[in-house]
Amino acid sequence: MIRTAEQYLERINDGREIYCLGERVRDMRTHPTMSAIIRFGAMDYVIPNDPRYRDLFVTKNEEGEEVNFLLTAPRSAEDLLRRRECYMTGMRAGGVMLHCMGIDALAAITVAAGKMDKALGTRYSDNVEAYRKYLQKEDLGITGAITDVKGDRSLHPSKQVQHPDFYLRIVERQKDGIIVRGAKIHISATPCADEAIIVPCRTHGEDDKDYALSFAVPLNTKGVKLLGVEPMVRVYGEEGRFDYPFADMIQPTECMIVFDDVFIPWERVFMCGEWQFSRDIVYAFATFHRLFGASKMVPELERLTGLVALIAEYNGVDKVGHIREKLARMAYITHTVEALGHAACINSSPEPSSGIQIPNLMSINAAKYTFASNFHDMCKIAHDVAGGLATTVPTYKDWNNPELKPYIEKYLGAKAGVATEDRIRVFRAIKNATHNFLQIDHVNGEGSLAAQQMFLYNSADWNKFKAAAKRLAHVDGWQDDPHYGTVPGYEDVTMPPVDESYTL
Ligand SMILES: Cc1cc2nc3c(=O)[nH]c(=O)nc-3n(C[C@H](O)[C@H](O)[C@H](O)COP(=O)(O)OP(=O)(O)OC[C@H]3O[C@@H](n4cnc5c(N)ncnc54)[C@H](O)[C@@H]3O)c2cc1C
Repeated sequence: MIRTAEQYLERINDGREIYCLGERVRDMRTHPTMSAIIRFGAMDYVIPNDPRYRDLFVTKNEEGEEVNFLLTAPRSAEDLLRRRECYMTGMRAGGVMLHCMGIDALAAITVAAGKMDKALGTRYSDNVEAYRKYLQKEDLGITGAITDVKGDRSLHPSKQVQHPDFYLRIVERQKDGIIVRGAKIHISATPCADEAIIVPCRTHGEDDKDYALSFAVPLNTKGVKLLGVEPMVRVYGEEGRFDYPFADMIQPTECMIVFDDVFIPWERVFMCGEWQFSRDIVYAFATFHRLFGASKMVPELERLTGLVALIAEYNGVDKVGHIREKLARMAYITHTVEALGHAACINSSPEPSSGIQIPNLMSINAAKYTFASNFHDMCKIAHDVAGGLATTVPTYKDWNNPELKPYIEKYLGAKAGVATEDRIRVFRAIKNATHNFLQIDHVNGEGSLAAQQMFLYNSADWNKFKAAAKRLAHVDGWQDDPHYGTVPGYEDVTMPPVDESYTL
């Protein structure tokens, strides 16, 4: 089914144990921060019901029922391109939070379940597909909880010193299910998601088998405690919209999810001790999630680039050479991220055990690395081009004080024909869209820079690069390379005849 925003908002106030700024949230619909977050989450249900977006977001499942396309498994390059288009269109339209982390985790466990079933004779794929059907039928929002709190990073889960719960683990296997304990951290969209899919965040050795664990859980389950992150802003309504246009659109949604001996029934368990397959889940999740990250970032980079272009225009410096060079750099980074995400879908390939289409590893990691390693630079350009008002800009309250407004109106105008209010709003947006929360998010979200470097190193075609180098340096060993050794006789043909009588 395709739920309406009203149906979503009705169900999300489900009695979950969630905290904000140290206080238990009594009602998600009226708590200032939580109601802002769930209203953003509701956009995930507004957009597919809008006739302009319906064809993109709504598809039919095998039973012929209308379901959200993002809840189906990608099986071709076209599916990946459509998935990416949903993310970008949804983010541009102001939504799509509840069908990203969770569905990336779902794709990852689909891959790993296929492999486990094939190698070990388990039946995890049945659980995964039954769960997918349930999500489709109920049209639920899901988040993906991967990152453990991790304790001492140099130690494997089973070798931690202070206690054994730095990584989520199985503490008991029972007839009807398992009991799990531990905590996941920084989990986006938690307040507005109905359920979470849990997968491991690292590879495991045999000693870590109790940490090789994947399952799905409703977020109002007994023992699940959600500790919300600090809101970016604490003013709402017209004032919030004026002063913090980015955060007004989306407050940070991250939570630490504590599992205080939570019971998970077997039918919701997708991995339970198969430590050899943690690597498959981790790698598949990282790949899918970077596709989301690279898609989500396109609208965000477009907004930031647009803000800088606007403020340059409003300040009268849009024709200045160094400003144009800086804008060109922003446009280039924005375009590169978009093009790499597209290439990752076009050059994708199917995973044999599950038939899931996997984005191209090189392109998708390059996309994430490009925005993560350049976002601070883009913020620097924004601050440089905009000038100091990007931080000292007056607030809504200043602007709306009748005694101050005439001064602000007069002295903070710039280019003739541009309303002072518009200029102030753009400064406020730059200040907010370059907030340190976002700078830290974009480096760490979808994995640290080192994680992409590892994928880039492992996916690069070193044989090709070395063959290229050997051919250039006339060192034997390039002749059999499919790219550089394909023209036999190259050395003879390109060796020029020499008339020795010249003195050079
Ligand atoms: C805003 C935001 C949203 C997020 N959303 C989600 C989400 O929805 N779901 C989710 O599961 N996660 C989410 N994350 C988590 C994100 O994936 C992690 O922050 C990221 O993987 C880094 O992990 P960490 O924060 O624990 O830092 P650390 O792992 O401590 O990393 C810090 C540094 O130490 C390095 N390092 C760590 N361990 C090792 C090691 N063993 N060997 C070598 N180097 C090491 C890292 O490469 C990095 O340079 C989110 C993060 C943020 C900031």
